[in-house]
Amino acid sequence: MLSLVAPPTLGRAPLPAEGGGAGAVLRTVLTGGPLPRAAIGRTAGLSPAAVSRHTADLSALGLLRELPPEDGPPRAGRPQLPLDIDTRHHLAAGVHIGVPWLTFGLLDLRGRVVAQERIPRRGDAAAVLRTVRAHLPGFVRRRATGRSLLGLGVVTGGWVDPERGTVVEHGPLGWRDVPVREQLLGVTRLPVHVDSHARALARAELLFGAGTGATELVHLFVGNVVDAAIATGGTVLRGRRSRAGDIGHLPVPGSTEPCSCGRTGCLEATVAQDTVARRAHARGLIPAPDFDRLLALAARGDAVALQLFRERLDLVAPAAALLIDVLNPEVLVVSEAGLTTVPALGDHLGQQVLRHTRTAPAPLVTGASFGRDLLAVAACAGVLDSTYQRPMELRTARAG
Ligand SMILES: [Zn+2]
Repeated sequence: MLSLVAPPTLGRAPLPAEGGGAGAVLRTVLTGGPLPRAAIGRTAGLSPAAVSRHTADLSALGLLRELPPEDGPPRAGRPQLPLDIDTRHHLAAGVHIGVPWLTFGLLDLRGRVVAQERIPRRGDAAAVLRTVRAHLPGFVRRRATGRSLLGLGVVTGGWVDPERGTVVEHGPLGWRDVPVREQLLGVTRLPVHVDSHARALARAELLFGAGTGATELVHLFVGNVVDAAIATGGTVLRGRRSRAGDIGHLPVPGSTEPCSCGRTGCLEATVAQDTVARRAHARGLIPAPDFDRLLALAARGDAVALQLFRERLDLVAPAAALLIDVLNPEVLVVSEAGLTTVPALGDHLGQQVLRHTRTAPAPLVTGASFGRDLLAVAACAGVLDSTYQRPMELRTARAG
């Protein structure tokens, strides 16, 4: 049966220019700051009067600040003091829901991790959201040290609908249609931004990482879930029903791994960290199929562990090349734990992608920018992205 559902996001995707002049000023200072007002105006294409107005508004909200003058002999005329992002007042809070862990994070406005804590993920969706509700207030009290929260981000793998705030489907967790935003709204009285892990990290890479200054970026996440996020014109695509980027079920030739979707040989099932850990255990490398132990071996330079991670990247490379050929981005970011732990594996990935892509010159292919902070950054990215896209909504939220 063909069913036509009115697409709720039609025409509502945020444009790079959203947030008007204030958003442009804030993003200009994030990327190039500290900057004097004249340079902000030139970069953002705004008049001196507009820059003055927006910087005054953003300073009043605690988002921008004028840096103190440098020591030196006084100069004639009114000094042009540079403006920078003010990281003293606000924090973004977030939780990343993974298969093994829940990771709680607090980030400042420059995307730096102020605090993170992780606790084991246990039980079904209801139990997990109960744990989040129970843990979050104490975490914020202990670690936010008096700074105010801009919002709460909730991020997980799989198919997530940010518009409705639901996790539509997460195979490895066994979640279907979980109304995450609705369940968490009461905890903080803050806006709750629910998104997929891959899209959240694409936003973070554009704001603070390898994609700073770029508008065309693809982020490929490889964990227990495999999915992609695509940014074009600086906007991260959701696609119809927020399902863009679901590439985890591309077939891998020769693979017989059973997948949560019911088929065998899907990319996600073949390269999932649980599968890689089982492979390492079967080869006698680790005493139990524990992915963290395998990572620790790779970090110490164990040749067999490194070979297993190279094999994982070999399986990922054709999918990465396919994304490059279809989308021709400026930057392709691959988030994969082996690359994060042993950055030298990036050369291997780059070579393998080159073998498969037809696009020349190939884009920058790189591991994720956030190292061991990856999950905390992902958790909070939606909140920070919202602040940088629509900073003046902060005023509305405060007034309300
Ligand atoms: Zn599958």
